[in-house]
Amino acid sequence: MGQTMSELVCVGTSDAFGAAGRRQSAYLLRLPLGAVLLDCGQTTLTGLDACGIERDEVDAIVVSHFHADHFGGIPLFLLGSIYADHRTRPLRVVGPPGIEARVREAARALGHSIDHQRFHFDLRFEELPHGGALDLGPARLRAFETFHSPDAHPHGVLVEGGGIQVAYSGDTGWFDELPAHVNGSDLFMCECTLERRGYEFHLSLDELAERRAAFDCGRIVLTHLGAEMRATRDPRGFDLADDGLVIKL
Ligand SMILES: [Zn+2]
Ligand SMILES: [Zn+2]
Repeated sequence: MGQTMSELVCVGTSDAFGAAGRRQSAYLLRLPLGAVLLDCGQTTLTGLDACGIERDEVDAIVVSHFHADHFGGIPLFLLGSIYADHRTRPLRVVGPPGIEARVREAARALGHSIDHQRFHFDLRFEELPHGGALDLGPARLRAFETFHSPDAHPHGVLVEGGGIQVAYSGDTGWFDELPAHVNGSDLFMCECTLERRGYEFHLSLDELAERRAAFDCGRIVLTHLGAEMRATRDPRGFDLADDGLVIKL
């Protein structure tokens, strides 16, 4: 437990397809010295508003990988920061190598190019390759490679600040090094799209329950929940995330 209260707000906890009416991946981690938004899917602006979170509070957006349900909300986050929020505070957008080009490409493809936008705040893109580390001030980040569509540059992220460490799996299927990457964290937000094993690039409750003993984290909360997981009657001792859930750290 940290000396100063930190918390993680689950802004969106569904799979890519919005199962059970939930929103796509996004988590706001509030630390004593700032706030980090882990992933920003296409439904995240709606989620932030529904959770009463102002975009302006976010010091950094940290992207786990280049799938739309994890980074597709960034173009309009940036435009909203200019036109709706009149933002003046700096914003950092951190992600796998190529982050700036991917965001610019996505913005162009969606009809909201940012190439000729004037930003009245300091916008900085920063690459965080797997095995890399980055000090954001309010938080220190480390990234590790996960087992997911290789084209999307899949990363898991460790965020440390205010005396606590939060691990986030991003999207991944099972790989044997996963527990070693996240062990020692106070909280592990672990994707669990499926109830039964069946797809190599996402985790299932079957696999996680079988390997439960390999994890040594303060708390494990399952998220990126697909339709089967939403309906599950027995989460086998794991906690399940939900949109709007606030986890005190
Ligand atoms: Zn996803
Ligand atoms: Zn993905």
